[in-house]
Amino acid sequence: MFIFSIVCIVGIAFLTGRIIRSMQESPIPVPEEGSKKGALVYPGNELSFTGTILTEVLVKRFTYFTALSSEEQERFLSRLKKFIASKTFIIHDSSGFREMPILISASAVQLSFGLKEYLLPFFRFIHIFPAEFVGVQPSIRVLAGNVSGNRIHVSWKHFLEGFQYPHDGENVGLHEMAHAYYFQNFETGANGDPTFVSHFPSFNNCGNKIFEQEKLPGNDFFSEYALTSFQEFWAESIERFFEKPAALKAAYPQLYSTMAALLNQDPLDHPGHLFQQQ
Ligand SMILES: [Zn+2]
Repeated sequence: MFIFSIVCIVGIAFLTGRIIRSMQESPIPVPEEGSKKGALVYPGNELSFTGTILTEVLVKRFTYFTALSSEEQERFLSRLKKFIASKTFIIHDSSGFREMPILISASAVQLSFGLKEYLLPFFRFIHIFPAEFVGVQPSIRVLAGNVSGNRIHVSWKHFLEGFQYPHDGENVGLHEMAHAYYFQNFETGANGDPTFVSHFPSFNNCGNKIFEQEKLPGNDFFSEYALTSFQEFWAESIERFFEKPAALKAAYPQLYSTMAALLNQDPLDHPGHLFQQQ
């Protein structure tokens, strides 16, 4: 057991080192006036990434983008630029990489790509931690990501793992954006996206039955964590929808079609043909 623990720690350290090294090719310049309390603060409207830089990063790491037609890629880039410009990115580390604001924003654009409203205006701040971090609300615990107040928090290590293994059904970026998108549409009092708001009750009805069904022995499509609350079930449904669409459709066809209508996109059809590989 002791040896196993050491192997795990070394394995994790190695993996983290590998990820960080692979990111070193594109460091983001330290902001002139943006450093406080050891964090780097980047107002998104000052980052001004060109279409070429955005495309370079996405093509390398974001399979969803590469599956789009060139016309859709233009639309994706246009949304991505506006999303980045509307946020402030706070990196809790001594250095940052341009992949951080680009890829985290891209996961929000992916989730809402079929919808009209995609900017999540309530969430002005995106906090990025190098690895797991401690959350204090509502209780003290170690987190890979969470949404709190008008802030989205993400562990960069866990975020990257989500995109390194695009078919394992786990993706912290999509998970946190699912929480944020729900909150934006139903808890802020602002007008929500019409498609999302009108279809969510169907997800609610269908999802609640599956939420209860999954608690019974022998059903394990969703994790135990997803069954701790319906909000977690929602967030994990989004992860499964994009990363294991065929398996989700086979296990729960009605949930799959409800989500395709809710998000106005179908990973098993165009543009997500890559996601058919399970
Ligand atoms: Zn969650």
